[in-house]
Amino acid sequence: MSDLVTHFIGGLPVAEGETFAGYDPVTGREVRRVHEADRSVVDRAVSAARAALPGWSGLQAAERAAWMRRLADAIEERFEDLVAAEIADTGKSITQTRTLDIPRGAANFRSFAEIAAQHPENAFHLKDVLSYTVRRPLGVVAVIVPWNLPFLLATWKIGPALVAGNTVVVKPSEHTPGSMAVLAEIAASIGLPPGVLNVVNGFGPGSAGQFLVEHPGVDAVTFTGESRTGSAIMKSVADRVKPVSFELGGKNAGLVFADADLDAAVEGAVRSVFTNGGQVCLCTERLYVERPVFGEFVARLAGRARELAFGRPQDEHTTMMPMISAEHRDKVLSYYALAEDEGAEIHAGGGAPRFGDDRDGGYYVEPTVLTGLPSGSRVNREEIFGPVCHVAPFDAEAEAVALANESEYGLAATVWTSSLSRAHRVAQSLEAGLIWVNTWYLRDLRTPFGGVKLSGIGREGGTRSLDFYSEPTTITIKLEPGRAEI
Ligand code: NAD
Repeated sequence: MSDLVTHFIGGLPVAEGETFAGYDPVTGREVRRVHEADRSVVDRAVSAARAALPGWSGLQAAERAAWMRRLADAIEERFEDLVAAEIADTGKSITQTRTLDIPRGAANFRSFAEIAAQHPENAFHLKDVLSYTVRRPLGVVAVIVPWNLPFLLATWKIGPALVAGNTVVVKPSEHTPGSMAVLAEIAASIGLPPGVLNVVNGFGPGSAGQFLVEHPGVDAVTFTGESRTGSAIMKSVADRVKPVSFELGGKNAGLVFADADLDAAVEGAVRSVFTNGGQVCLCTERLYVERPVFGEFVARLAGRARELAFGRPQDEHTTMMPMISAEHRDKVLSYYALAEDEGAEIHAGGGAPRFGDDRDGGYYVEPTVLTGLPSGSRVNREEIFGPVCHVAPFDAEAEAVALANESEYGLAATVWTSSLSRAHRVAQSLEAGLIWVNTWYLRDLRTPFGGVKLSGIGREGGTRSLDFYSEPTTITIKLEPGRAEI
């Protein structure tokens, strides 16, 4: 990625607007400038997407699927450039970036190319009448994504939107424009028709994000980010009643029963709490552990937290990454301080590490394990989005389920048990869109993804994505003249 990030409109880079700084989360140093889209740049991007719409939506679905496969192939060819861009923006470890973030981006295009072929159009024969539905694209879709999994989350939306015949304008997070800039180069290099994929950079309120969602030429908004941002976007598009798909925040619970394989539960908790520095919407921030194994579980989890390795992103053994920004680091540290004020016992972490090198200017916090807080405390209610969890004991299954369901959020939950019937019973009682039993994060991309309560609206994944990115139109034809009508 170059150190100047431009927009990508109508198949060409566009270097317009004031520039803002981007910082390396590892050192806190300024490493790039990014052009900020004003209303006129956003307007050009939406116009380019609209101009490309008839040609793109007029292609056969199989032809669009072929483009998606070409994009996936080209992503694999530029694999290391994408890895470098993602690491430069986020400070993620190279191991995770190579095994999860970038491969999932290619898989997002490839899998939706396959899924498109299975998307049903229905025909129903009534007596003398044929009713059938055709699916039509929504038009120009605004794709607004956060910084935590920049490539994975953007492609998760761009793939199905494009294969369904829409054109898109993407607004990456202001913190992480790099991998979308590389995707724009890839799109141009394979000759994707100009205007089908456009990228504008900038911030949210009063900037590119707000200008884009409000633009009258945008037909629908797909958004991943904080719940309060989802609420703000919903208000901005309410007058035009634009369809929205929202993947929002979480305060996910993990339930560990005494009959669980404790080694697996501890390792699973390490992954679900600390992966990506705890900056994944699916990460666990609340653990409830059955009392007989509570003490041992907390001691082992805290021990593993202290072992996590704060290496450089390029070191394959690194397991802890920095927070995305100074502001987010300060937010996470303020929750560590709040936990102390609220009376928590800190078993691991609780502060910011010192390295004695240039990483002291970066945005690192320690992986932290807390106990002793009441369930109504702010630390147990609010999404922190850092490498931290609170662990509390429980005595009965119903109590554990009630504690897990106390949250205003309902994105994901994890259950650790060796009892098959308990696994099903508890999983079906938890108020969350995604529930894992004896594992975490594994996904089949054909299954529905999304949350309940404050965690979102709608589901994406598999044909559910194509349902959102297209409108069914029902056509009913009378085959026999002269019969009675309703
Ligand atoms: P954020 O809501 O602050 O920002 C997300 C995006 O929205 C950014 O591109 C931002 O510029 C833009 N934006 C902000 N205000 C806007 C507005 N008024 N109009 C239009 N665009 C606007 O979120 P973040 O801090 O970047 O990401 C972290 C959040 O994302 C966490 O809450 C996390 O749980 C959530 N998340 C959810 C999922 C999921 O699938 N449910 C996945 C990843 C992250």
